Amino acid sequence: APAGDIKTESGELRTADGVPILISININDAAEIDELDPATAGVGLMRSEFSVTSIADAANEERQLAIYRRVLEQAGDKPVIIRMLDIGGDKPLAGLEDLPALEPGLRGIRLLLARPEIARVQARALLRAAVFGKLSVMLPMVTFPDEVDRMRELFREEAEKLGRRALQHRMPPIGMMVEVPSAALMLDTFGSAAFFSFGTNDLTQYLAASTRDGNEADAGKAAPAVLRLIEQAVKLAGGKPVSICGDMAGDPRYLPGLLAAGLRHFSVAPARRPAIRSAMVGLNADGTRAAGE
Ligand code: PEP
Ligand code: MG
Repeated sequence: APAGDIKTESGELRTADGVPILISININDAAEIDELDPATAGVGLMRSEFSVTSIADAANEERQLAIYRRVLEQAGDKPVIIRMLDIGGDKPLAGLEDLPALEPGLRGIRLLLARPEIARVQARALLRAAVFGKLSVMLPMVTFPDEVDRMRELFREEAEKLGRRALQHRMPPIGMMVEVPSAALMLDTFGSAAFFSFGTNDLTQYLAASTRDGNEADAGKAAPAVLRLIEQAVKLAGGKPVSICGDMAGDPRYLPGLLAAGLRHFSVAPARRPAIRSAMVGLNADGTRAAGE
């Protein structure tokens, strides 16, 4: 290949002043993994609730294992972050109709800890899938550090059970979404999280009392506050890997602000990737435009 293509083929991208930038993709359906081209760093977010949509799916360890395995094998040596089920609130799970009655706001990791039978099946499927690729597991809607501790303990217990059954498995790094404002403010207290990824969709909603799929104008008005919160939180991450997988990451308008906040790893919908790659051209790592660009 001509020398000019090397950048694209290795997936390496740098700011105008030479700082490496990673662009990963978000996938919903497992089949989207086929859009992982060589220039992509990996999968920064797989939303498992799009593959596990009913209580029957949630109870089916072998089916989940097959789905996660296919994604990991297709990704090869590229890292894949699979997020545990983010259900509750406005995200239903067919067959779990008593949800709103349980408690409004019972969503993501809180729901998984309240319904550990669901979490245990998914943990086993993920532990077993981890053997087939470079898997990390991400926890949704984390608010307090003990939620991460409790989920890690649940993974340890399930790993032990798999060991007793002589089933191949591997403990993946376990990190968390940063999408609840209080967690972002207190990020230095999440000692047991292996990595962080900013979810600006929920972060915006909960920070600005807006609706999740609210109007563009409100999201735009809330953006400076979200960017300031992210900038503070990045400083509290203690050198752990940090990325962003919310919709802001795929919007070129916010790229300078996100770079200035210290972000170097962007995970975006596959269709947004070319726009972000080209928006990166001419930008320094601090978000300013390089001279002559
Ligand atoms: C987010 O909240 O920004 C996010 C990436 O998670 P989801 O869109 O699945 O809620
Ligand atoms: Mg979210």
